[in-house]
Order: sequence, then C-alpha cells, then structure tokens
Amino acid sequence: MASAYNETQARNFIEHYPNIAKELALRTYTSRLIGADPNLVLHGGGNTSVKLNHKNILGEDQAILFVKGSGVNLAAIEPEGFVALNLAFLKKFRRLDKLDEAEMENQLQICKLQPSALSPSVESFLHAFLPHRYVDHCHADSILILTGQPKGLDMVRDALGPRAAVLPYCMSGLPLAKKVAAEYDRNPDLEAIVIGNHGIFTFGEDAATSYNRMIDCVNRAAAFIKSKIKGKALVTLPDDLTPFQADKSLAAVFAQSIRGASAHPDPDGRLCRFRVEFRSTPDLVEASFAKEAPTLCDSGVLTPDHVTHTKNHYVYIRWLPDPVDDLGLTLRREIDQFAAQYHRYFKEQAGLDGRRRQESDPFPRVFLVQGLGLFALGLSHREAKATADIAEHTIRAKLQAGAIGTYVPMAASHIFEMEYWRLQQKKATPGPRLLLQGQIALVTGGGGAIGYGIADRLLAAGAAVVLSDIDESRLQKVCAVLKDRYPAGEMESIPFDVTDFRSVTSAYEEISRRLGGIDLVVPNAGIAHVARIEDLEPQQLDRVIDVNFKGTFNTIKAAIPVFKRQGTGGNVVVISSKNVFDPGAAFGAYSAAKAGAHQISKIAALELAPLGVRVNMINPDAVFGDENISSQLWDLIGPDRMKSRGLDEKGLQEYYRNRNLLKAQVLAEHVGNAVVFFASNQTPTTGASLPVDGGIPAAFPR
Ligand SMILES: [Zn+2]
Repeated sequence: MASAYNETQARNFIEHYPNIAKELALRTYTSRLIGADPNLVLHGGGNTSVKLNHKNILGEDQAILFVKGSGVNLAAIEPEGFVALNLAFLKKFRRLDKLDEAEMENQLQICKLQPSALSPSVESFLHAFLPHRYVDHCHADSILILTGQPKGLDMVRDALGPRAAVLPYCMSGLPLAKKVAAEYDRNPDLEAIVIGNHGIFTFGEDAATSYNRMIDCVNRAAAFIKSKIKGKALVTLPDDLTPFQADKSLAAVFAQSIRGASAHPDPDGRLCRFRVEFRSTPDLVEASFAKEAPTLCDSGVLTPDHVTHTKNHYVYIRWLPDPVDDLGLTLRREIDQFAAQYHRYFKEQAGLDGRRRQESDPFPRVFLVQGLGLFALGLSHREAKATADIAEHTIRAKLQAGAIGTYVPMAASHIFEMEYWRLQQKKATPGPRLLLQGQIALVTGGGGAIGYGIADRLLAAGAAVVLSDIDESRLQKVCAVLKDRYPAGEMESIPFDVTDFRSVTSAYEEISRRLGGIDLVVPNAGIAHVARIEDLEPQQLDRVIDVNFKGTFNTIKAAIPVFKRQGTGGNVVVISSKNVFDPGAAFGAYSAAKAGAHQISKIAALELAPLGVRVNMINPDAVFGDENISSQLWDLIGPDRMKSRGLDEKGLQEYYRNRNLLKAQVLAEHVGNAVVFFASNQTPTTGASLPVDGGIPAAFPR
C-alpha cells in the first residue's frame, strides 16, 4: 500500500480546524488515513496521539498528551475524539511496578483536563512514555500474520530490519507501556516497535514521519509474506469435493435459523436477539470447503483486541445433506457445544486468580458454513458488521499464515485477560436497552403517512425496520427522512408487490440475508376506490381486494416459515380500519377488502398461537399525513370527500376531529405507538382489535 499522505490534504485539515493547534489538526488527518485502511485497523481498534504544550488558566506552561478516546473509530475521528491528559503526571507512572485495573481507570480519569471528555485509550501510558511528538499504533494484518508464526518474532526482525524492535506479547496498560519505553531507552534510533500478537507502534517528530514509518513497516511485512507464499495455494481442497456456491435462498434459511438458535434470555429475562451479517465473497466460500476450515474456526483471534467482537472461536458447519429439515437441531447442538466449551474456559481461567467476575454470554458470534460463507452476529447492525469485518480479515490472515508456515493460537490466559479486562468490557458494554431492541420489523405500505409513522415509532423504540412499498419514489422519500434521524443500518428499504406471493417471499429472503430474519410483520399496504356498488366495476373491486385482502394474506403467510425457523415467537400487527366495524356508503371495495383482511388475521391468531406468534389488529380512522409525507389514501379520496362535504383540506381534518368522542386529531404516530405496544408483548394479547380513532361509538369492536 502506498502512503496516502498528501500535502494539500494536510493543509486542508489545518484550514478546516482554524481554532485548534495545527499539530492536532494534522494528528486528526493522519489518524483518519490509518483508520481508512482496513488492513491496518478495524472498528475502533488502534490509537494515536500527539504531545503539545499550552498555558493553563494560571498562565503556566503545561505539557499535554492528546490521545484517542477509547473505542473511537480512527476512520472518522474529529479533534474532539482525542482526550487531553496531563502529560507530566502520566509520565510519573513509570515509577510504579504495577497498577490494578480499577486504579488505572481511576488515574486515567484524574489525568483528564476536562472531566466530561471521553475515557482515554487503554494505551495512554505507552503514548506518554515515548518521547516523540507523534505516536501511531495499529493492528496491521501483515504484522499479525508474521507474529502468529512459531518463529514469528524473528521473521518480523528479518522483514523490518534494525530500525524496528520486536517484543513478545504483553498485556496492554502499564506493563506494556513500561516494556516499550525501556526498549526505546536501550535504542533511541528505533522508528517502530512491534508487539507479538498485538500490532505495531511507530513514532516521529511530525505527523507525516510517524505515519509513513507505519506504512513502510507494514509494507515490508507484507512483501516478506508475499515472498514466502510465492504462488502457493492458500487453501487445500478435499479431493472428493468441488466447491460450489449454494443457492442464495439457503443463505436466508441459515440466517433465520442461526438467529433463532442464538437468541437467549438476557440477565433481566428479556429475549436477546441478534442481527446477522452475511458475507459470501468467493474466497470465503472457497475457505468454507478447505481442509483448513475447522482449524480456521478453532485457532482463535489474531489479537486479543478482537475477542469482545468475535469471541475466541467460530462455529464451523459442514454441508448437510438436507440442511433445511434438521438445521435448527444441528445448530442448537453446535451452539450448546460452543457454550459448554466457553463455560469451561471461563471456569478454568477465572479460577486462576480467584477474583470474582461476571461471566459473559457464552454464545458464538461467527459461523462459517460450507458452501455459503460467513454469518456474523451482533446486537446492532454496527456490531454485526464489525464482527463480520474482523472475522473476514482473520480468515484471510490465517490462510496466509498457513501458507508461510503454521499459525499458532494464542494462550487462553492472554485471551481471558483481555476479554475480562474492565476497560475492554466497558468499551463493549451496550447502552441502555430499548423496548424493542433486537427486533426486526417489516412494514408494508411504507411510502405513506401511516407507514412512516409506524417506522418512526418502531425505530425510536430500538427495532430495526425494513420499509416496503410498490412505489419506489414515495418509499425513498420516507427513507430519506428516517435515515437522517436514526443510526445507519437500522433502517432498510425493499420495494416489492404485496399482491404477488413470490415477490413477498423473495423479499423475506432478502431481508433475512441482509438483517437475519423478521420478528414483527406489519401489513399496512392498502388502496381505496370510491364507488357505490352499482357503479363499482368488478375489476376495480379485484384490484382493491388484491392489495388490501390478498396483500395482507400474502404478507402473513410468507412470514410463517420464518417464524418457524427462528422459533422465537413474533408479532403480526395488521393495520385494519375503523370501516371494518363502521363502514361508509360508496366505500364498499375498501371496507369489504379490509374486513376480509381483518377476518384472516383473526384466523392467523388462532393458527399461529402455538408458535408464540401474536396477531393483533389496529383500527385507525382519518389519519392524515403532513406536508412532507402525505397519506396515499387521502391523496386519493380526500378531494372527493372535500367536494361532497363542501370543505377544504383543513376543514375536512376538523370535520373528522370533531366527529370522535375525544375530539382528537388522529396522527400516524398514534398508530405507530399502538404497533410498538403490541410488539412489546407487555400483555398476553392476541386476536385483539385496538381502535386508534379518538372514539367512534359505531366502531367499538365487538
Ligand atoms: Zn492495540
């Protein structure tokens, strides 16, 4: 890889941040260069720093270390992502022989110049002890490939030459910082220090020098690996097996089954469901057939920093003769075995120092499936993606490591030390759990006001939402509004036609491949046609029945195999209508089709209860959109209704508000709140109808 440092870009960074020191602007620039290259760091890994002098409030000179905040992603770091620490005080810690984790955490907080700043990197001492203005650190694949070899440290020495020192693995924090500083003291000509099974530190007096030294070392290591591999095949394929890419719909079945088998109650008893990220690049599929595949999964992380994302081992699933039939059982058996192994590891390692610790969940995060590729799990899209990225890099790195020699797994004690290090656990701890966290919802009719209102409330309650509509431009408009408001990856859109069963099932497969499965289905797509029976053309009636009735039927029917494979229950919340109970003249097609949908939903409630799937209906009335997202229904029937009542748009809304008991204007978000209520399983309710209409006596459910 070539150095990406560019003088013009560097100047742009200085100009872009006129109120901060130019050294910090340049620190931000080269940190992003490192973060942008996945061969150097992945997802919050790596850290960088710069040392500056400034005057404190008393006018005294003070030396400051600006070091990356813990868990901050280097690729998108801003100057605020660096924490200012009292450098003179930090340096004094070199005198200490040891520092326990709680005290280290405490002391790092004391060193902060601003109490509200982020927690500083766990490597802050190391950055402080080296005298250079700039220090860069990453977990480059090429360095990890070499240090994972039996004689890996010698290989790194050969590859990098005398300007780099190589130290065996040592736990991060004060012990590592002291060893690195001592090594530098012995040889002040050093430009880089490599730590086995961890990564590389480079340093220099200016941002470009430190960064370029990093790129140079990583390139030398990569060239060394290339020369050793010299055209050797990375994988050995069994003689009797020709790799093939399995049918894509099977990937959806696996994603649903893996997701279901991995769901488990969290400590407060709520079901914890994962997002699944599926990867199927040709090299991953080939690796899944390789003789090396089981070892790839069993030989542990490349560096302990990855363990909180991927756990130390992956699950390998061999091709099953008829995978669909006994897949759930096979997966459960594999997960049970994994969990038993994890319990053993925890018991053995935790017993060594006698300290009390809370065992983490014992569930695997990565599955390599023959013929399909890799399935990675996380509690959010962000986490599942990070797990998948790290697992992909790990598999590729281990294949190269195998081609140049042997990959040696790290000692369990090192893995445990990092996995249960308080500072590392803090980084991995998710925030407060929202009501629908972990659930994946599908909302049809997503291009209109009600679909938007439902999606908005579901996202706010923590669910991931897939919006669908047949009208792509309306759908994109709604998605653009929501994407601005919620985290990337928590909201997806898939246009499909609810009247075509095959279109619905292939959309469900697509959702499962992208997100993992479905827990909540909200059939909301609907159309209307205003005509009295004597004027209602049969083909118009067919059209309305196709969308409102058959569309609801298709959407529910296609979800059943998904619910079955997941085995974790679920919810169907059908957006019915006030008209089901209290129809209006000239609105027969709509009302009759909605009544059919309502009735089939009740049947679904009867049939799906044994699966733990609840089916409930919401009966809204007169939900108008706003100037941004209009109601498709009212776009269609509004002008006619206004004309027949001699009202303008505002007047019509007032008319509907005044006709209900509570004199309430019914909003799309009210419908969304009702969906959230049913999806949250707070009451044991199925087959129920909930009016969201301000109170219309003629439409009271009975
Ligand atoms: Zn590191």
